[in-house]
Amino acid sequence: MMREGLTPPIVHAATGLCRNRLRDLYRQLHGRSAPQGRVSEYAYRRLQTRNQILEGIAFYGTYYGFGGDSIFRTLDHNLVMEAYREYKAFAPGGIDGTTAWYIARDLRGGVLTPKRCKICGGTYLYDPRSDLMSRCPVYAD
Ligand SMILES: [Zn+2]
Repeated sequence: MMREGLTPPIVHAATGLCRNRLRDLYRQLHGRSAPQGRVSEYAYRRLQTRNQILEGIAFYGTYYGFGGDSIFRTLDHNLVMEAYREYKAFAPGGIDGTTAWYIARDLRGGVLTPKRCKICGGTYLYDPRSDLMSRCPVYAD
């Protein structure tokens, strides 16, 4: 998880490992101190542009393919990272690991829900707190 750039607070929440050790590990891996990350953030705050939202949907597709409906009930960190690596192999410029983790966490929490678009039939990620994510992004100009 650290290798994908996830911050110590998230890895701590995920694994229960000691925060100080995680901060040391982060510094070893990345050669700099970890940015102050807050676990209280949400995916919609990190998906600000239409392109980021489309990337988020692409990650969701991979993640759902790996976990099926279980992703709405549980947050399996290994599964998230496995899906993220698979997604990233096809989208090197796509969303970062932290954003992917928030998407997975919000899907499990039910604050982010997949919806089927009545116009194009595609699936998009719905969060009513975001203007861009209240509707299908395909035709949102
Ligand atoms: Zn659509």
